[in-house]
Amino acid sequence: MSENKSVIKIGDVNPFSIVDFPDRIAAVVFMQGCPWRCPFCYNRELQPLDISDEPLWTFEKFLLFIQKRKHALDAVVFSGGEPLMQKGLSKAVKEVKNLGFTVGLHTGGYDPKALENVLEYVDWVGFDIKGPKEKYKSLTGGFGIFDEVFKSLDMLIKSGVDFECRTTCDPRALTVEDLFETGQFLKKAGVKEYYLQKYRPVESDKTTSDMQCEALISDKDLTAFLKASFEKFDVRR
Ligand code: SF4
Repeated sequence: MSENKSVIKIGDVNPFSIVDFPDRIAAVVFMQGCPWRCPFCYNRELQPLDISDEPLWTFEKFLLFIQKRKHALDAVVFSGGEPLMQKGLSKAVKEVKNLGFTVGLHTGGYDPKALENVLEYVDWVGFDIKGPKEKYKSLTGGFGIFDEVFKSLDMLIKSGVDFECRTTCDPRALTVEDLFETGQFLKKAGVKEYYLQKYRPVESDKTTSDMQCEALISDKDLTAFLKASFEKFDVRR
């Protein structure tokens, strides 16, 4: 089947993951396309929505794959890229759900309308919050609109769907003060679960040291504040 007929454009698949959905063994589908250009992006090859190469995976092939592996999988996670960018997402999520899988979604919440279309079929969301409001443009390569992200987050909080927020801590882009501000904002918004993720320098970053990455996520006052602010908080290295 050609790429055009696939319900969604898939960049890649991880057939087996224990870190992308809490307490579940999941297959992860990395959807092609992202409207943002975060300087710390690990998945740059997924950023363009259209690629000329013949895709390795169509959605139909992925569905056959997960049906065969049903005995070994608890869940399917739609990740990216930014899954909300593709119009076929809700159809794809429903089809996976109909097969009896629990469904997770990784998103930066760039399009609240697209999130609204899919949220009722999703069991868990990993929500990337890039940093404080005034830095959202620079943290997303000039494209992120914080008010839209906040609408998505607010909808998620009110929906009752289980979720976590997490921030990639790139010391080129974020300071300890920025992370305090982000934590304060999330606490006030009603978020219960928050994680700081250690930045591992991307290939183009030749200057950031591991010590700098570690220093940002190890600040004692910051981690004490975040521990006290959320029901669940941790630093992921
Ligand atoms: S939102 Fe994610 S996939 Fe998109 S550019 Fe940023 S880090 Fe990369």
